[in-house]
Amino acid sequence: MAKDNLTAVLYGINDLRLENTSIEEPEAGEVLLEMGCVGICGSDVHYLVEGRIGPFIVKKPMIIGHEAAGTVVKLGKNVKNLKIGDRVAIEPGVPCRMCIYCKEGNYNLCKDIVFCATPPVHGNLRRFYKHAADFCFKLPDHVSLEEGALLEPLSVGVHTCKRANVGIDSDVLILGAGPIGLVTLLVAKAMGANKIIITDIMENRLRVAKKLGADDTYLIQKNRSEEDTVADIHALFDGEPNRAIDACGAQSTIRLAILATKPGGVAVIVGMGSSEVQIPLMTALTREIDIRGIFRYVNDYQDALNLVASGKVDVKPLITHNYQMEETKQAFETSRTGAGGAIKVMIHCK
Ligand SMILES: [Zn+2]
Ligand SMILES: [Zn+2]
Repeated sequence: MAKDNLTAVLYGINDLRLENTSIEEPEAGEVLLEMGCVGICGSDVHYLVEGRIGPFIVKKPMIIGHEAAGTVVKLGKNVKNLKIGDRVAIEPGVPCRMCIYCKEGNYNLCKDIVFCATPPVHGNLRRFYKHAADFCFKLPDHVSLEEGALLEPLSVGVHTCKRANVGIDSDVLILGAGPIGLVTLLVAKAMGANKIIITDIMENRLRVAKKLGADDTYLIQKNRSEEDTVADIHALFDGEPNRAIDACGAQSTIRLAILATKPGGVAVIVGMGSSEVQIPLMTALTREIDIRGIFRYVNDYQDALNLVASGKVDVKPLITHNYQMEETKQAFETSRTGAGGAIKVMIHCK
């Protein structure tokens, strides 16, 4: 086993350093992992650039990274589900397992959940990292570590589509063709949605969405009125979509999700932006639009893995850039600027 444990530590705004940290011993029920790869998420970039996301503030140095996969190199006591050499995807949030939310199966809402790279909890962009064995998902031989790392955003897509009850009767409008909008598209397709149209303000992202199987795309124009934009979307659907999913978090797209949805339909708001947003509430209420939120995912990792392992979803086209751990700063820069059409930037830890 290599001795060094190169680790990406966020010290503060725009202060990301690579340093050696000690390799932790797996406790009972945990495994030590040799990390394979870690994807950069919008939230990681947010912590780097702003030092916070809403109430979560980086107050002391924090190891970054939460979209990850690795190989088991050491077992803690009582680990039965894994063995040394297993390649696993890491579900990054480990809940308390004791509270009412955990007992009801809504462990994503657990107040004591320990979630990688959400301050003050350390993440897993390092060479070695230990994790609860039952939140590690063994990858079949034909599923790569890169795909394993992508199960994290894919699980958000799975949870989103479950919350939206996507099925064969669904005409789905997705607002935003960033990584979350795109994984939602992939899952909605796999769940049999009738028609999926995705919007963005960037042409190149819409081209990717089209390649990934969107039935149609729509370029949002700044100077076009809300009313006209909704009319354009309805024209593309040849009717009103009965599911709308906002994967941006901007007030303008949250409003569009609500306004474009068919009466009696469902609008799921995935993107996170300002804490207070102005929405046409009365319009939503009188048209009986169900507005639903999502928070991460819950019991979705295995479903995400099954989608990939069975070939129903191919996440590989989402990876546009690969970097070695020593190049972590460049990797973050690429992810931040979206240079070269960056969608998902992957860092390789070995
Ligand atoms: Zn993420
Ligand atoms: Zn709990």
